[in-house]
Amino acid sequence: MKISNRDDFSETTKRSLAERVGFLCSNPNCKAPTSGPQISNSKSMNAGVAAHITAAAQDGPRYDYTLSSDERAGITNGIWLCQNCAKLVDNDPIRYTVKFLCQWKSAAEQGALERIGKTARNRDKKIKVIDKWVSAAYTEKSGIIKKIQEQGYKLRWTTAKKESERVDLEGWEPVLLGQPNGNKARLKAKDHSVIGGYLILLKKKKL
Ligand SMILES: [Zn+2]
Repeated sequence: MKISNRDDFSETTKRSLAERVGFLCSNPNCKAPTSGPQISNSKSMNAGVAAHITAAAQDGPRYDYTLSSDERAGITNGIWLCQNCAKLVDNDPIRYTVKFLCQWKSAAEQGALERIGKTARNRDKKIKVIDKWVSAAYTEKSGIIKKIQEQGYKLRWTTAKKESERVDLEGWEPVLLGQPNGNKARLKAKDHSVIGGYLILLKKKKL
């Protein structure tokens, strides 16, 4: 028999919600860590809340009367937040709508998926794209062209002016070469024998 009329989450559901976002608050502007050590060396501290997307009880924020009790207490109706953000979203349910919170949740889970198992060094490294001036002949001679074609791409040189049109509308992308320092180089040429002028090498997957 239910003792209260709230559809609270089970401990397992709360734990899964926290784990699915790596114990970080799901508000993209917050991302505060919500767990850490207590002084006692066997215990941990929790500053996170398994918040209800639609309220656990009738007078609560974003309450959805069409849900069953099980659905209301189910994991799809939960989002992991820090205590501050949990308060924030419940104080302003007009701004923090169900749709809004669901977007936070899926972005936070996606972020956790991308971070998982990666070292801090690789995760935080900002990759810089630098321009590298080459000659069209060099791209042929060095085997760059051949290598990219073998990966199933079409290649073309385009003028700097047309680059964004081709990239945005036609689905081409600049050829970026990995550099020893981890940066990427975008290939530019100014001496193409046929087209002439300042050109950028683009690639596009063959259909
Ligand atoms: Zn937060």
